Amino acid sequence: MNIQPEHGSEFAARAVNLANCGLIVLDAGYEIVLWNGWMAPRSGYAAARVRERSLFEVFPELRGSRVESAVLAALTEDLATTVPPSSGRAPFPLRAAGSFDGERIEQAVSVTPFSEGGERFCLIEIRDVSGTADRERRLLDHAEALRARSYIDGLTGIANRRHFDVALDRELRRAQRNGGALALLLMDIDSFKAYNDHFGHQEGDACLTAVAQALAAMCKRPADVAARYGGEEFAAILPDTTLEQARAHANAIREHIAALNMPHAPTAVRPWVTLSIGVAAFDRERLNEPALLIEAADKALYAAKRGGRDRVVADGDSAAAPA
Ligand code: GH3
Ligand code: MG
Ligand code: MG
Repeated sequence: MNIQPEHGSEFAARAVNLANCGLIVLDAGYEIVLWNGWMAPRSGYAAARVRERSLFEVFPELRGSRVESAVLAALTEDLATTVPPSSGRAPFPLRAAGSFDGERIEQAVSVTPFSEGGERFCLIEIRDVSGTADRERRLLDHAEALRARSYIDGLTGIANRRHFDVALDRELRRAQRNGGALALLLMDIDSFKAYNDHFGHQEGDACLTAVAQALAAMCKRPADVAARYGGEEFAAILPDTTLEQARAHANAIREHIAALNMPHAPTAVRPWVTLSIGVAAFDRERLNEPALLIEAADKALYAAKRGGRDRVVADGDSAAAPA
């Protein structure tokens, strides 16, 4: 901004002191020739105490900092530099006005060289970006939380159907690409309608959560995904797992759930809560798409139900000979 000649330097000084950012001017020997009103309450130094002292004597910790490099670049090479806020310690020991024991304000600093009367100077501008940084961090945290929540089932806390769909698609592509194995389990709580009728819907919810948590604890390899597929149906995606390995794992899950010994309704097949499980595995010729793999696992699950429940059936088994 050009100062209108008729207003003079007092007018300019007032404006500089009112600026909502720190303004420091250094001469070629790093001596402070201007220190505006913003700086005083945040640094604890009034202009009179710092004028004609070296910036690095007033703030020794600036030695070796990015601000020192920026000042050097300005005064010796005529280069302007911006020092953006960093995740580390802010360069100037400045605190919110009037609080000398509070945290350092976060700072965006820019250093601009200029010449006046044949002498070289540099202008240092310091902006308080604490609010901006906080707000940005809060927005990012919030967005992250929302994103995470949209992939988690609200009742049980495990992956939801959306997460399952994305993961199955991804793992199937990976298996296609690498020629690797991939298995899918579909699980359904036996006679769950009777459970709800006997114990009430709230107990039903608690039972679903317990089964989900136990299932998640049994699918612990990094790429495994245990998900709530629908009401009382669950799914597990097991990469690098063949049909036979998956059958064995399904049986371990079934036994683990039975061993929780959660009392079931009198009309259920067992006096404790049980699972029926259908198993299918990726097959390059036949089961090479999510819908086909799900359909095969669902058919096997249906066979497990028809075969008497509390059992595992794998794709290709005959319904009469469940695993
Ligand atoms: P089957 O052995 O053939 O699977 O019998 P089932 O009674 O489990 O099967 P059905 O599909 O007839 O019943 C499922 C029940 O699961 C009915 C529904 O009320 C209950 N259910 C679904 N979602 C929830 C839920 O979020 N909470 C509770 N408490 N119950 C649920
Ligand atoms: Mg069901
Ligand atoms: Mg059921």
